[in-house]
Amino acid sequence: MTERKPEAYLGGRQLHPETLMMGYGYRPEWSEGALKPPIFQTSTFVFKNAQEGKDFFAVAYGLRDPEPDEIFSLAYGRINNPNVEILEDRLTLWDDAEAAAAFASGMGAITTTLFEFLRPGDLILHSASIYGGTDHFIKTVLPRYGIDSLGFGMNDTREDIERLLAESGKANKLAMVYVESPSNPLNSLVDITMCAELAKAHSTPDRKVVVAVDNTFLGPLFQTPIKQGADLVLYSATKYIGGHSDLLAGVCLGSADLIKRVRGMRTFMGSMADAWTGWLLLRSLETLKMRMTEMQSVASCVADYLKDHPKIEKVYYLGHLKPGDPQYDIYKKQCLGPGAMISIDVKGGEAAAFRFLDALKVIKLAVSLGGTESLAEHPSTMTHADVSKSDQAAIGLTDKLVRMSIGIEHPDDLIADLDQ
Ligand code: PLP
Repeated sequence: MTERKPEAYLGGRQLHPETLMMGYGYRPEWSEGALKPPIFQTSTFVFKNAQEGKDFFAVAYGLRDPEPDEIFSLAYGRINNPNVEILEDRLTLWDDAEAAAAFASGMGAITTTLFEFLRPGDLILHSASIYGGTDHFIKTVLPRYGIDSLGFGMNDTREDIERLLAESGKANKLAMVYVESPSNPLNSLVDITMCAELAKAHSTPDRKVVVAVDNTFLGPLFQTPIKQGADLVLYSATKYIGGHSDLLAGVCLGSADLIKRVRGMRTFMGSMADAWTGWLLLRSLETLKMRMTEMQSVASCVADYLKDHPKIEKVYYLGHLKPGDPQYDIYKKQCLGPGAMISIDVKGGEAAAFRFLDALKVIKLAVSLGGTESLAEHPSTMTHADVSKSDQAAIGLTDKLVRMSIGIEHPDDLIADLDQ
């Protein structure tokens, strides 16, 4: 377990994350005794003297290494901010990460991290089923910078992936394995430990292949990729971590060394989260466990109702995986619960799926997920509209698919809505 600040311990034992969400990383005496951190709504911070300013920028720009016990002041909002720093400290607790970097959106976290670890000529290996925005960035934006991608199927074995890599002729250029598990929108799982072993086998003493996992669908409560061997964990904090559909944010977590690099790139990409977002997320984190646990329990009632419905062809829900399915083995190995995302194939294709979406009354027709309210959307024409039709077909995403994010409403009311 990673060493924490002294207030994380009681009687030699580390307190649980849900306990530490109320105060870790902040002391009321810093702010006139205020129980909660005030919002530091400022773009810049005053240095005590010119030497302090010089020291700060010398280290921030890598002109020299910090002295062992050198403590840094705050300088400028694109580099640091108290609300964001407290947030980052608290976020490390759930995933047992050494460090975290917060961003203005999930895409801010993903694109900044990929730009830091990829160079022209590199190859990024990725699980085929990923969020539409990430898919666009990897397949349309990265090639402009000479970075190639190679997708592997969600049920591919290590041997299948090694074969794909060998056939690509670019195995020696592999720089990152990027995984989204469970995947958006099909809830497919990828074996994170297998990806970590593959990355290790392709790393050399002067070139580490980094494994990054988008943990938005289950984390941080129900999946902890660092424990499975991942180097970096990414989130759209807009979803469960924010949890109220009222903010945009992203997070990258990992070792202190890797996050130092991610923060360096964040400074120049300008993708830093602001103070108000940091404050809102601190408030959200206090109820994170409660919200995610309740959503998961409501979702299991909804999924069970949908399972045998005559107008539904298939339900994609982790809680329904059965022994004998390779996905079940991965679920048992790396997930702590099924979460609250459910996708369904509606009999009758796009027209029937649209009729279903237009008829909903309690569940709102909107993209996004992880908020207290239930939402439903049509991935093939909305969140994943930009994924080519052939790639959609390859991962099993069709026009009959509807994705639902289940909130904390009473399950009977959601079922009544689905029923009508
Ligand atoms: N990752 C996943 C799995 C997502 O579902 C999303 C957005 O839906 C993102 C990343 C991007 O996050 P954001 O919209 O906060 O930029």
